[in-house]
Amino acid sequence: MLIKVNVREIEAHKEIRVNFFEEKGVFDIEDRHLAMVKGKISGDLVFSEARGAVLGKGKISYRARIVCSRCLEPKEITIERDFYRIYEPKIEWQEPQEEEELSYGDLDVTEYKGEDIIINNDVRDEVLLGIPEFFFCSVDCRGLCAKCGENLNKHPRHSCKGNDIEEGWKKELQEKYREIKGGKDNGSS
Ligand SMILES: [Zn+2]
Ligand SMILES: [Zn+2]
Repeated sequence: MLIKVNVREIEAHKEIRVNFFEEKGVFDIEDRHLAMVKGKISGDLVFSEARGAVLGKGKISYRARIVCSRCLEPKEITIERDFYRIYEPKIEWQEPQEEEELSYGDLDVTEYKGEDIIINNDVRDEVLLGIPEFFFCSVDCRGLCAKCGENLNKHPRHSCKGNDIEEGWKKELQEKYREIKGGKDNGSS
């Protein structure tokens, strides 16, 4: 399903509000092993005319299940992102000009064809950008025992004695990853 904004309608009404509450599949968002979007993605966006272009801005929010980079425990959090995009009509016959200077500074300008601006990809980008690469379940997460993989948040007094531990640690990791992988979908590796 495409989420579209009609440019003629924006011209007629000055601005158009777009609200959506959609499954991640609508935006082609796949589950990843260490992070997955949970439930639907909601957006509250306003599109308005801006000097011959269209400005789209608002908020996108969703829940995500992310695995802590330290202790490997998944945690669900709510992520909210600002959406800010400028759309310009694609002019087919125009030769690309050298060093064309865009008047919007460093902002990304997205071109659209015809009368509809399709925002699925932009929402997708924003959702994926919102998922941190390194994530800590809490600021004082203690992580795992480097020797045996014991979760030190759950066992703060843990101390390792033996050194036949490599195996247990590996097993724990493998189990965790299997668990995460099996979370949903077939997962993309
Ligand atoms: Zn943690
Ligand atoms: Zn240990």
